[in-house]
Amino acid sequence: MLPRTRQSNKPKARKTAPAPAKKKAAPAAQTPAAALLAWYARHRRVLPWRALPGQTPDPYAVWLSEIMLQQTTVAAVKPYYSKFLAQWPKVEALAEAPVEEVMRAWAGLGYYSRARNLHACAKMVATSHDGNFPRDEALLRKLPGIGPYTAAAIAAIAFGQRAVVIDGNVERVVARLYRIQTPLPAAKTEIREYAGALTPQDEAGDFAQAMMDLGATTCTPKNPACALCPLTSGCAAFAAGDAASFPRRMPKGERPQRRGAIFYAHRADGALLLRTRPPRGLLGGMCEFPGSEWRVDLDAEQALSAAPLKARWRKLPGAVEHVFTHFALQLDVYVAQLPASARAPLGMRFAGPNEMGKAALPSFMRKVWEKARSSLAG
Ligand code: SF4
Repeated sequence: MLPRTRQSNKPKARKTAPAPAKKKAAPAAQTPAAALLAWYARHRRVLPWRALPGQTPDPYAVWLSEIMLQQTTVAAVKPYYSKFLAQWPKVEALAEAPVEEVMRAWAGLGYYSRARNLHACAKMVATSHDGNFPRDEALLRKLPGIGPYTAAAIAAIAFGQRAVVIDGNVERVVARLYRIQTPLPAAKTEIREYAGALTPQDEAGDFAQAMMDLGATTCTPKNPACALCPLTSGCAAFAAGDAASFPRRMPKGERPQRRGAIFYAHRADGALLLRTRPPRGLLGGMCEFPGSEWRVDLDAEQALSAAPLKARWRKLPGAVEHVFTHFALQLDVYVAQLPASARAPLGMRFAGPNEMGKAALPSFMRKVWEKARSSLAG
């Protein structure tokens, strides 16, 4: 260390020039959380399930929206959210509804196990918690369909608890802020640690929603609008100029392609042959037209052997395609017209036009319906 210069004790001669104005102390640097909360106060998204500033959030609304938003876009969720809330304004009302009715209302939103769990969770909250959602993350995680993310989101947003909420948007923002080189999904632990350090003690709910909004509107996957971001000064990826390359990802493997056959049996009185899938597993509890297994190596002969009844089956040109998380599906559609006296095989039923309108058909079965209907009409 350099020696300090000794100061003279002599009073200095007064200068006649006016004293320079006192230099103002520099304002303390804002923490990223404070900068983000200030940005959120101005730019927050207005969403139907979100409390406005000054309002108390409704835990039922927060829970319902968080379940619906899992793997689903805000735009797709909005009409379903409004429909559910209008039909079942309280958790007790949802708990009392027949599960088939809930599945029907959910049809088209995808990932159908969520609907079954939603109903089971409503029942548990109504019966074991007096209709009140628990405030604590650990207790929330004991409810059906509530995993770590949803528990943290409800605890923070509905009850203001300090919980670390990490969805895809937050992952992206954090991976960029710290230029995390580990590819996803291995990077999740690192991201959680950084996100935990960023999360403030107070206003954890607003902070979580601000991170989500920043990811959804500004720190977007392809072209982040860094010029509009409140976190640029501390963002490592912005400084390096390579924000869009984060989060790092493992190269994706190809999705396997499976094939299947669907049999559309149309009775002369307008009824269609339907069955209900088993309650557990993919699309559990949903309705479908009967069909074959979905396999990588399904050939035409195997497909036809899965026909539910004897009829003059006609294969429609082209196929219905659908992409699930782990595989892509191609369905050949066979149609047959049957007399009004035709009986449904065991475990199936003929559904008349009224029932079809309300049937809990997943979206790709609706594509099958549309294709078969237009071919028969043509
Ligand atoms: Fe994302 Fe850019 Fe903001 Fe960094 S500066 S958090 S990359 S928007």
